Amino acid sequence: MKEGIKMFKNFVKEVAAYAKAGAPHVTPHQYKKRINACMECPHLRKEVDRCGLCGCLVEHKAKWATSSCPDKEVVRWEPVKIGEAGKQVKLKKDDKDNNTETSDEVQPPAE
Ligand code: SF4
Repeated sequence: MKEGIKMFKNFVKEVAAYAKAGAPHVTPHQYKKRINACMECPHLRKEVDRCGLCGCLVEHKAKWATSSCPDKEVVRWEPVKIGEAGKQVKLKKDDKDNNTETSDEVQPPAE
């Protein structure tokens, strides 16, 4: 039960950070890299497509620019740097389907 509460708190924290930043999404390329890492991760609970460490649905978690992989031993992906000089990301107006398209202001993570 404690594990479930911990996962719920992590999920709320992730959602709050995502909403506070203006709901920025990663680019399709970044999403693909993230989701591929999750699909190969031993922590993925494949039967429910949830991260076994934080409890988030990986299809959503990987889409959110503010999210990071919770694995502290092997960080498989990190948050995306958003904008330059503190600029906020502006989603395209045609982002009706909640897809992974973003403006060019989303920066790839530092390698
Ligand atoms: S978020 Fe990280 S720990 Fe969780 S399933 Fe994806 S790669 Fe694994």
